[in-house]
Amino acid sequence: MHTGPAHLFVPGPTNLPDEVRRAMVAPMPDHRAPEFAAFLRPLLADLAPVFGTSRARIALIPGSGTSAWEAAITNTLSPGDRVLMARHGMFSALWAEMAERLGLVVECIDVAWGAPCPAREFGRRLGADRHGEIKAVFVTHNETATGVTSDVAAVRRELDAAFHDALLFVDGVSSIGSMPFEMDAWGVDLAVTGSQKGLMAPAGLGILALSPKAIGALDTARSPRSFFDVRAILAAHEAGSFPHTPPATVLHALRAALDRLAAETLPAVFARHRRLAEGVRAAVAAWGLSTVAEHPSFASQTVTAIRTPEGVDAREVIATARTRYHTFLGAGLGPLSGRAFRIGHLGDLNEGAVLAALAVSELALAEAGARIAFGSGVAAAQEHFAGAAAPCLAAAA
Ligand SMILES: *Cc1c(COP(=O)(O)O)cnc(C)c1O
Repeated sequence: MHTGPAHLFVPGPTNLPDEVRRAMVAPMPDHRAPEFAAFLRPLLADLAPVFGTSRARIALIPGSGTSAWEAAITNTLSPGDRVLMARHGMFSALWAEMAERLGLVVECIDVAWGAPCPAREFGRRLGADRHGEIKAVFVTHNETATGVTSDVAAVRRELDAAFHDALLFVDGVSSIGSMPFEMDAWGVDLAVTGSQKGLMAPAGLGILALSPKAIGALDTARSPRSFFDVRAILAAHEAGSFPHTPPATVLHALRAALDRLAAETLPAVFARHRRLAEGVRAAVAAWGLSTVAEHPSFASQTVTAIRTPEGVDAREVIATARTRYHTFLGAGLGPLSGRAFRIGHLGDLNEGAVLAALAVSELALAEAGARIAFGSGVAAAQEHFAGAAAPCLAAAA
């Protein structure tokens, strides 16, 4: 039997703040009543700044991030449309696979798992596409499998430099709410997230933000869609409701989570994630291990994938953390299985939580056979945190 709290450090779902959890204890509303409309409208409005948009419209889609991926594709594209994507981790690979299954012709650029989206190569392909056959470009902003963040603005610059009209789709599932995301400034047409990662809410919702250009594509796309018909969802949202029964408990929790983000302020939320991520990377360096991310300049602020040394099975590290220390670390996905484990550092967490994750990782690594000096990673993170005090705490002191 485990005593004490479980420590959840998978990169989604993330820890729920107490008031988010409590917000779910609520009666089921009548979702056609004016009271529900009065609840839903500000919820939609308050999501906009988290996406960095004042122009986009937001559709709440029961399901998860994956359902928002699907809705983005089927509502704006047609079977046979060509799309340009990069495959550099499990999530970008899965999105490419979905696009293929939905009848798109996927031009996929394979790059190393650990490298970011190759914006310049995208630019070259877009420049060569004289007849505008590429209808959309897909970017995974934060590859959760590898802990790599890609430069979405750079992809927008390549599109503009090629005078290309393709829609820009961005997967922000593990970045939105925890890292800067500038939908309008980056010229993103479809931004996708889910409720259960950076937004600190329970799983159950995909969230899709559509630019005016993407809204225009809703009328020309010929992919079949039914439950995920975004026109029907947006029309219902306009009237303060849903076309189907909404998951009200998740919406209440999301309301509480957005209130927390607003109270902390987004710049402070982003600074906190950066500080905590830097602490984790300092620990990895102190252990003498390497991150899957090939360079710190594109290392993620929300998740770190850590390579285990030769001969040390990362699955054993994860199993030890779980069974002996009631701590959940993220697995290495696909080809990284057994070779890497991940620490999710997004959502509701602080220095103490990160230090616990690092301390348990040291125990589990050592037990799996890695030569780790106990406390080395923890101390490196402490050094970092001591030198980079939280601005709000410093101000209060
Ligand atoms: C988690 C994740 C997804 C899938 O989202 P679900 O909510 O599990 O469907 C897609 N993309 C990225 C980058 C993710 O981290």
